[in-house]
Amino acid sequence: MSVLHLPVLVEKLPAREKALFERIYEIDSPPGCLVPEEEMEEWVSRKFGGLEDVKKQRIMRVTNLVTGEGALFNHLRGRRPMDGQGSEDLNSLVREYREGCPFCSPEKFAPRDSFGRIRGKYCITAANLAKYDGYHGLVISNEHHPLKFNSDMVEDYFQVASRWFSEADRHAVKEGDSEPRFPFLMWNCLWPAGSSVVHGHLQLTVTRKRHYPRVEHLRNCGINYARQHGSDYYKDLFAVHRALGLGWTEEDCSLFVSLSPVKEKETWIMMPPGPAGPEKLGRLGRTVSGVLNTLKEKTGLNSFNVAVYLPPLSENTIGWEQFPVIARIVDRGCVYRRTADFGAMELFAASVVSSDPFDTASLLKK
Ligand SMILES: [Zn+2]
Repeated sequence: MSVLHLPVLVEKLPAREKALFERIYEIDSPPGCLVPEEEMEEWVSRKFGGLEDVKKQRIMRVTNLVTGEGALFNHLRGRRPMDGQGSEDLNSLVREYREGCPFCSPEKFAPRDSFGRIRGKYCITAANLAKYDGYHGLVISNEHHPLKFNSDMVEDYFQVASRWFSEADRHAVKEGDSEPRFPFLMWNCLWPAGSSVVHGHLQLTVTRKRHYPRVEHLRNCGINYARQHGSDYYKDLFAVHRALGLGWTEEDCSLFVSLSPVKEKETWIMMPPGPAGPEKLGRLGRTVSGVLNTLKEKTGLNSFNVAVYLPPLSENTIGWEQFPVIARIVDRGCVYRRTADFGAMELFAASVVSSDPFDTASLLKK
């Protein structure tokens, strides 16, 4: 199965799921024809594994009508020639950065938050030196290598994150800050994902007054959807993906590989709405680790972003009752590639994606 077969797959869906799909998504398959010059033919066939696929390219455009997000899928793009795909050994490169690594001795070379440090079994917190927001901390792994982690470790990182959010909240209350506060957890791994420090670490922020714009946008889309259709957007979104074979559950987590990804292999993990204490966030961490480790083993994933959308820290959570805890995971491509995977299309128009969500789902589903 492939995203290119989407029109046929949607036709075959049971009536309810088909109606939900058509409510949430619009699909279009514009023809992409070109004529290679004779001198190019041999090279094109060699590079792309066939001339016909290049002459008549199949493109699938998927638009999420609820959130306004959209992706253009073309498998051929994953096969296009790229510069700088060296074969250096990533492990030895990571080792080189151990020399003088501030995060290998965080208690000496990484600042602490005004409320101190939180220690876990596999990590410790620090304050970020140049802050994004009023509260901006780090979960620094005891392990230097950013790709060496297992479920126990990521569970611990996420539990420590939850404790850090509570500490930041308590600190703000003590300081007399009466604004509502909103936590955000992110994990950027290696250079393509925007991480400047090689050593394994996650980032934590707490913002106030309102959540970050992307989070608020999604929440508002969900509220409008519920008003318009009397139905839960997140549950419908998951139902559509599951019916197509792109979604599955693991304990209280609903996972799916998105049909309108922001970039390669975007996978969502949703947990029921409500506060995310250490236990719940720890379970999410285990599931995130499962996805990342499977992608590492099966696709050679070496650079990624993870973002976790969480409800407000304050008691007053009006308007957040339906909003699930959501983790979004994206593959950012090979660390040796010189071409960035975000260009003007992604920044200002729509995401161009070469991985097929059906392939990714078949790798991840247990
Ligand atoms: Zn280190």
